[in-house]
Amino acid sequence: MASSEIEVVPSESEPKTTQQQNSTQQIAIIDVFSASAYGDFDKLRKFVEEDGAPLATPDGNSYYALQWAALNNFSDIAQYIIDHGGNVNATDNNQQTALHWAAVKGSIAVADVLLQNGARVEAADLNGYRAVHIAAQYGQTAFLNHIVAKYHAEYDAPDNCGRSPLHWAAFKGFSDTIRLLLFRDAFQGKQDIEGCTPLHWAALRGNVEACMVLVHAGTKQELLVKDKAGNTPLKLASDKGHRQIARLLSKAERANSKRLFDKILGGKMGEVGYAPILFCVIIVLIILFINSVLATPTLPKVTAIVGLWGWIGVSLGIGSLIMFYRCCSKDPGYIKKSRRSDGYEDTEDPLLNIELNNASVWTGNWDQLCPTCKIIRPVRSKHCPICKHCIEQFDHHCPWISNCVGKRNKWDFFVFICMGTLTSFIGAFVAVQRIWTAIPVLSAGKTWIHLVIDHHPDSSEYHH
Ligand SMILES: [Zn+2]
Ligand SMILES: [Zn+2]
Repeated sequence: MASSEIEVVPSESEPKTTQQQNSTQQIAIIDVFSASAYGDFDKLRKFVEEDGAPLATPDGNSYYALQWAALNNFSDIAQYIIDHGGNVNATDNNQQTALHWAAVKGSIAVADVLLQNGARVEAADLNGYRAVHIAAQYGQTAFLNHIVAKYHAEYDAPDNCGRSPLHWAAFKGFSDTIRLLLFRDAFQGKQDIEGCTPLHWAALRGNVEACMVLVHAGTKQELLVKDKAGNTPLKLASDKGHRQIARLLSKAERANSKRLFDKILGGKMGEVGYAPILFCVIIVLIILFINSVLATPTLPKVTAIVGLWGWIGVSLGIGSLIMFYRCCSKDPGYIKKSRRSDGYEDTEDPLLNIELNNASVWTGNWDQLCPTCKIIRPVRSKHCPICKHCIEQFDHHCPWISNCVGKRNKWDFFVFICMGTLTSFIGAFVAVQRIWTAIPVLSAGKTWIHLVIDHHPDSSEYHH
């Protein structure tokens, strides 16, 4: 795969990037190509309008002036070239168009100019790479989103080896690009000519975050798919020594098989969690406390102060039971799909309206996309794979309450924990106090055995 990796611009002829524009004075701008590459509009105009240089012919390497302008996102120059005879769909020796070059650095402004002037969004080069593939190979997530949302580029298109943009993003480890593609319903189970899924490539290359995103959004099927050599993603990861990924994948496999085991048993342990067990334990403990510590006839009668503490403990226990029920049953802050006020689901592309060029809003926020819920979630929220929802202000999924702890039940959870702890301390204190005061009574000529015999005459039969 690495050998077929795209090499859009030969490195020796690659112009300096925009950060190095300060030194343009020293760079010789000798023709329309260098003028386009470095964004020297005045010189370009001079070459075209005074010297009559053509814009429809390529340079010595078969590259067009429009490609150079597209690579470095000079949209005004691109428009000028198109207006003065440049062909938007002209291809170089690799069959690449200016749009391919725009995808390399994610030049959205130029892409708009090209596509609005009739550039073919699905133009494929010699390897079958379309603009979507190039964008995925270079991790240009915003660019990819732009051409998919606005120009309906096919995001699942295969290249000549059957690899989709998702394969490439997984191979290169661009997890944000993966999030976007999954958000847009890219097919995770797609196998290339070698039988590899995107997860195979991510596992092979040791891209931890990419694997994590794919596993969380995926199903059991992707974990078990074998490539043509018979390897699962887990096998590839362990063979290559990517231990963290191997652990992640085997854990995911085990979680899935456990669920399968549950189904055989007819139960859904994973979803129900331990909440019913904890609920019963709390009730049993409260009854036991009342029965065997407070009201037991075995020990001396409770004094007023100890009794008060005891019943405070019992009330707190019942209170924590109520809080426990609230934690379990309350919506922890599920984020719903945005619905319009008139009740109809918003069918408009949610990513279309976001100002993607505005870096302060968008940069680094691709992990706000949930590939499973198909929503753009607020910061500090996370998807819970057990609850199958995105949770606002996600803290953690607590198996003991069989629910997530999030925005709406975090205070209930906190109060529950505090009450539970306090109840335990009071209970322990009262119990110890009761036994402590009982010891002088017991030790006055009696042993535990006598006590047992006195109060449980049936058991005394064993002693005769
Ligand atoms: Zn989600
Ligand atoms: Zn959860």
